[in-house]
Amino acid sequence: MRTPLVAGNWKMLGTRASNRELLDALAAGIGGLEGIECAVCVPYPYLGETAGRLAKTRIAWGAQNLSEHKEGAFTGEVSASMLAEFGCRYVLVGHSERRQLYAETDAVVAAKYAAVQAHGMKPILCVGETLAEREAGRTEEVVLRQLEVVCSLNGEASFKAAVVAYEPVWAIGTGRTAAPQQAQAVHAFLRGRVPAGTRIIYGGSVKADNAAALFAMQDVDGGLIGGASRVAADFIAVVQHAARAAQRKG
Ligand code: PEP
Repeated sequence: MRTPLVAGNWKMLGTRASNRELLDALAAGIGGLEGIECAVCVPYPYLGETAGRLAKTRIAWGAQNLSEHKEGAFTGEVSASMLAEFGCRYVLVGHSERRQLYAETDAVVAAKYAAVQAHGMKPILCVGETLAEREAGRTEEVVLRQLEVVCSLNGEASFKAAVVAYEPVWAIGTGRTAAPQQAQAVHAFLRGRVPAGTRIIYGGSVKADNAAALFAMQDVDGGLIGGASRVAADFIAVVQHAARAAQRKG
């Protein structure tokens, strides 16, 4: 059985005060939940405080990005060793906002993935097609290319210590989510290309009211949650849907 993972991506949102309120609500609501992994991926300045507030819970924390370089003259960048030094568990790599807004190539994403694993952390590798690519019937070709570049640098076995997130670009932050069957079709395709046991989670406008149907899909092992992860009641409800879906799948 694959333990589901629900990870929140706070993006560039939050304040110290709102984060405290959110983290305390998550700790009280899902901090002790078993049979599921939860995590929040937060902006760098909030990592320390997040780690402290989640210390006595089962909720992990992670970063949203890192440098592919080891160390040196890379002003403004944060290395894998810096994140690992104080207990980071997950790092998002290849999020579509990084690929699109910061021109991250497949090769850079693969190097970042390598850096995360070299320091004992787990990459959450985001793959997904744009609307134009879907409409041109190129979804499988695109996600396969994104996966293969990572695979050729890091090897197929590396996926055993990673999570793949299928995030159709047209569904991120748009309120438009993939239909459960659309998500399942891509997850089943990806499942055939990674080692058994690799978790494949879905992201793209997952909310409390559509999470149950998505997580009921056989190859959907949880979610990467953006907007809804900043609202305690919504994130808690999404996590609870994932836990119930896992129980049903057995
Ligand atoms: C994301 O940022 O990875 C994401 C899926 O965002 P949203 O849930 O807001 O679509």
